[in-house]
Amino acid sequence: MTTPPPSLGRYWQQLRKPLELEVAHGCPDTAIVGASIGIYSRLWASRLQGGSEEDERLALSIARGLRDYATMPVVERRRRAMAAIDLLRQREANATPTLPAPRPAPRPPATERRPAPKKKTSPVLPLPVGQELMEMPLSQLAPRARWPQTLADHRGIYTVRDLLYHIPRDWIDITHVADAQDGARVAIVGTVSRHEYDRLKSKQIPQALYKYTLSVDDGTGTAWVTSITITPPSGSRNGKNTWSPARLQFSVGQRVFALGKVERTGKLVEIKMEDIFQVTEAETASLQPGAQVPLYPLTAGVYQNQVHRMVLRILAALDTEEGTQVLPDPLPAAIREQYGLLPLVETLRELHAPQSPLRHEMARKRLAFEEFLVPQLLMAKRRWEHHHREEAPVFHATEHLPSLISQLVHFEPTLAQLRVIGEIEDDLRHPHPMNRLLQGDVGSGKTLVAAGALAFAVRSGFQAAIMAPTEILAEQLALVISRLLKPLAIDVVLLTGSQSTAERREARERLATGTAHIAVGTHALIQEGVEFDKLGLVVIDEQHRFGVLQRVTLRSKGRTPNMLVMTATPIPRTLSLTAYGDLDVSVLDELPPGRHPIETRWMSNTELHHAYEFLRAQIAEGHQAYVLCPLVEQSEMLQADAAVEMAAELQKRVFPDLKVGLLHGRMKPDEKDAAMEAFRTGATHILACTTVIEVGVDVPNATVILIHNAERFGLAQLHQLRGRVGRSEHQSTCLLITNPRFSPLVDMDDDVAARKRLRIMLDQQDGFAIAEADLEIRGPGEYFGTRQSGVFDFTIGNLLRDGKYLEQARKAAQEIVEGDHDLTAPDLADLRRRVIQMKARLDQFSE
Ligand code: ADP
Ligand code: MG
Repeated sequence: MTTPPPSLGRYWQQLRKPLELEVAHGCPDTAIVGASIGIYSRLWASRLQGGSEEDERLALSIARGLRDYATMPVVERRRRAMAAIDLLRQREANATPTLPAPRPAPRPPATERRPAPKKKTSPVLPLPVGQELMEMPLSQLAPRARWPQTLADHRGIYTVRDLLYHIPRDWIDITHVADAQDGARVAIVGTVSRHEYDRLKSKQIPQALYKYTLSVDDGTGTAWVTSITITPPSGSRNGKNTWSPARLQFSVGQRVFALGKVERTGKLVEIKMEDIFQVTEAETASLQPGAQVPLYPLTAGVYQNQVHRMVLRILAALDTEEGTQVLPDPLPAAIREQYGLLPLVETLRELHAPQSPLRHEMARKRLAFEEFLVPQLLMAKRRWEHHHREEAPVFHATEHLPSLISQLVHFEPTLAQLRVIGEIEDDLRHPHPMNRLLQGDVGSGKTLVAAGALAFAVRSGFQAAIMAPTEILAEQLALVISRLLKPLAIDVVLLTGSQSTAERREARERLATGTAHIAVGTHALIQEGVEFDKLGLVVIDEQHRFGVLQRVTLRSKGRTPNMLVMTATPIPRTLSLTAYGDLDVSVLDELPPGRHPIETRWMSNTELHHAYEFLRAQIAEGHQAYVLCPLVEQSEMLQADAAVEMAAELQKRVFPDLKVGLLHGRMKPDEKDAAMEAFRTGATHILACTTVIEVGVDVPNATVILIHNAERFGLAQLHQLRGRVGRSEHQSTCLLITNPRFSPLVDMDDDVAARKRLRIMLDQQDGFAIAEADLEIRGPGEYFGTRQSGVFDFTIGNLLRDGKYLEQARKAAQEIVEGDHDLTAPDLADLRRRVIQMKARLDQFSE
């Protein structure tokens, strides 16, 4: 290198500083007031003065990398920002940063062997300590290695902190070669006694394949460590330099660590190599048979030993006595003491290099607690703000809610309904906004509770709105609510997307002037900017259909109105504490009296005629039935066609003497209304339908539901569908019809999950038990929905097993927020930063 480039004063900092701010705040693109980082960096690049050509290229390339910052997902923003910071830091240190090469440089032909580069005495820089170490990019710790970038790209691991919090997925035993069991995954440590490669010929595979065999001897026996790759021994293919075990050039006499699956034939031990590296004398001491080595979740191109060695190096840097003190612990000492949690450094050491199973679990607990604590703090903060900062309309009706309800129906509310009504009334009479989640299984009578709350709002001089996830439901709900509220002379209007413009205009006008009291609608209510005269309460029915994290923004329509969110999908407690932790929860855990468990049967569709006979018998007794049509694709149009076809078939061939109705999602609103009305009044006996009836539909006289293709539905959906019956004192039945392949009589290995779901439906009536089982089968990620997973991705904590730790974290969060609601204490700084990041990510889902 020639003379160092001029430093250009503060120029590089002008971008680095805001980028660092961005990263520290979770990349919300707010570091520059009034402009996106993308635009700012373009301006910045154009302002470069007195730089070399290389500087110009650097500035442009950085700006180009940040160009679409505004529209990037947060993960990508962070990746780009960190990369840019890296380049800027290098440049500020007066170095010429290596830009990502636009094209790979041409390589000399493989035959032209270059002299092996002189082994540099690798500069083992002293690591910084404390926070600075934690935020250090791994690429700086291993500047010449390519794996840190790969790990960042594929696993989102950029910094020392990320790496330390990335704990091993598994542990593997180091064994003697003589003890290696066929089929086991083991690690051995031994000396190389021979190495060779063969070129394999295969008719199926066009490329040349190479098989490398390394004989490794550990004193108890010799193992053949083999690997097959398409990389020739020169280590270069098509001019691309690819990593291959051969390039490690192990020589006879070297000590190596090898990991892989054992294939044993008599005394011959072959190990299909997954990882291999050379070990030093010093390392051999800790790599004795009987010891365990960690397996990290990694990605192609990153080897276990690279990561493990880096972790050990970082842990060693924390190993000094001061290390424990200089590395700030995100958990305040008081909290650690109260909940019996290990300090951070001990935790990390135990997780990467365990001393005992007990301490290992303690370490896992500590980290799980820390992980859970962040969302819990966010939720606790929200609750605190609802209760202390925001003001809501105070309801001052002279009547009490129970007495209002007794005017609406002739039956007695259940005790559960009375309890919940009391909780709601308390909330509404207080000046802080109600934020309540009402969980109640299908048929538990949520609608009556909602109607009562709506009436209470109107009697207190306010308007109210209730929203349903689909048009059919909104229409149903409008009907039920206006019927229920008729005795109180309360005016209900319906507002949906498919109404005529004139109808909509009228409804909107009446809401804006306050001549209508209650609006029932779909989310069109929010989307179309409906104005209210005096909105005091918003109820959301079947919230789960809106998406777990999607919070409805109707609240902005009035002065922070009260909100009641209702769901029939019982959410396992750990999930609801996580996603709905900011809401107060009421539970309707009692069905109205006289309800019988729904008899559930599972049969193959070869027995369909029995099922139809059963329907006929029920109808002869004056009841009605739903028949769900077979599932086709995910297309609503094809689904509608299938329903039409099935209805015609049922009418013509199976039940020519009865009336078969039809309901699917693509019918016009008035056709839907007519179909529902005909079924409700008993004019049709059988309703052939699609899953549009999944939630909310309430026809108590229907006592049978027949579900085709039951094996293809999820548990929550099956439970909801089954809930369409069993809504009166009559015994009801749910018939789950499956493909013969799924006949309950045979027990094949395929599609175990589908069989499990069907068995659970036979065994369980209770929505909560079903939800727990569902969580177990699907896992939290899928439960939250793929689009939303990632927000509540816990890498250490497990929502299935660690409920106890979650409860503790929740308690701790409440205590912390009570004492310091803005988390301003210095020892909360790290938690505060993470809470802000999480809020930014969650906010993406609430629009
Ligand atoms: P969900 O909770 O699934 O929305 P609904 O509110 O639709 O349930 O109620 C189911 C049925 O039970 C309705 O027909 C409703 O009229 C009836 N119901 C509700 N509460 C009671 C009660 N306390 N006693 C008797 N029937 C009730
Ligand atoms: Mg309902």
